[in-house]
Amino acid sequence: MTETSGKLKYFPAFMDLSGQRCLVVGAGALARGKARLLLSAGADVHVLTGECDLEKISDYALVIAASGDAQLDARVARAANKARRPVNVVDRTDLCTFIMPAIVQRGDVVIGISTGGASPVLARNIRARIEGLLPARIGALAAFARAFREAVKATFKGPERKSFWEHFFNGSIASDVLAGRESQAREKMVSLINRAESHAPREGQVHIVGAGPGNPDLLTLRAVQLLRDADVVLYDKLVGPQILDYVRRDATRIFVGKSRAHHTHTQDEINALIICHASAGARVVRLKGGDPFVFGRGGEELEAVRRAGIAVDVVPGITAATGCAAAVQIPLTHRDHAQAVTFVTGHGPEGVPDLDWKALAYLRQTLVIYMGASNAGAIAARLITHGLDGETPVAVIENGTLPAQKTVTGALEDLPALMDTNDITGPALLVVGAVAALDNQMTEFLPKTHARSA
Ligand code: SAH
Repeated sequence: MTETSGKLKYFPAFMDLSGQRCLVVGAGALARGKARLLLSAGADVHVLTGECDLEKISDYALVIAASGDAQLDARVARAANKARRPVNVVDRTDLCTFIMPAIVQRGDVVIGISTGGASPVLARNIRARIEGLLPARIGALAAFARAFREAVKATFKGPERKSFWEHFFNGSIASDVLAGRESQAREKMVSLINRAESHAPREGQVHIVGAGPGNPDLLTLRAVQLLRDADVVLYDKLVGPQILDYVRRDATRIFVGKSRAHHTHTQDEINALIICHASAGARVVRLKGGDPFVFGRGGEELEAVRRAGIAVDVVPGITAATGCAAAVQIPLTHRDHAQAVTFVTGHGPEGVPDLDWKALAYLRQTLVIYMGASNAGAIAARLITHGLDGETPVAVIENGTLPAQKTVTGALEDLPALMDTNDITGPALLVVGAVAALDNQMTEFLPKTHARSA
């Protein structure tokens, strides 16, 4: 049984209208839209305009009045009522015996949204949100399940069959279908049915997912879908509570944060945790700040999971460099100022990493330095020693895209002082290069060194 809360103003149902005579009254765009919808449901659609003969209204399985002429529409409604035919009058819920929901359609999967006639605009707004949440290929998944329905029915009985399908929709075969790997999915499905493996433990799955720079609006749709589905979520220090709100309530959340000084978990321990939960059949999301493959050690986790023979997918995230640059309106490349952009780490096993500083000091590029805040002074000194002008603009962006975002701009030679006076303690990016002077505060009108909070 479906759960309902409170009384239903309208009874939700899907009608089979294939081959049924249906009447649309009206000549305008509204009437055409309704006729088209009925045609897509296979109805035998008749359209009447202007003065029409309403005697034969009982010939129709369903009537829609969309003439825009209030009197005519009301007459149609009365005639339909008299003939006990379901009738919808556009924009006149008081004359309707049925209303039509806003719909989201992916093949055979159709979601109808109704506000009980209170606000069609709200219904469309909800529809837009659902459109965003529903994987594009959910219709293909429904078609896939339909194609195997009989075979599964013949192989599994009763509760076994239900559990088969539950595991199917959460497992790697369904993921393959959603990702467009249909032939691979079909092969797996056939062998699964042939071996009648429903007794085998559920197959676990790992998704290594980028959470973006912090603001939840910058999560990808795929990330949101996976967070809603996951059984276990292992997350980092950079993943804030607002993002964790997207995790299913009853999922297990495991903090595996690492900070420079205190490693609560070693990388090996994290890998082991991921594998252990996935081996037990869980859908595991390994949620990482920014993009998993940009200074995220996502590559190592991927390798470990693959080695354990567990299905794994990687979902990109907006990396701190592009997220912060957009947030403060610093273009990372620019026809006039920067023909390249380089992402580097400012933190090595022993302080400042051993990089090719001469190449990095190369003019006409933008340098984005991750994890560089604590070594900012030494980094500036290295760049200047290797030929970069001390006057080169720099921007420090702390907590980019978050409410606590702070931007400090100035000259490279002043970087250590900038860091000290502005008390940068949160995650911060250093942007070095001419573009750093192009942030949204129009720096030419401000003192050269300034700080502000967003
Ligand atoms: N995988 C992440 C980077 C992890 S390394 C990504 O793609 O963004 C951690 C570093 O990222 C921090 O030290 C900081 O330099 C940077 N960082 C992450 N989020 C940030 C944010 N919201 N604002 C500024 N810097 C951030």
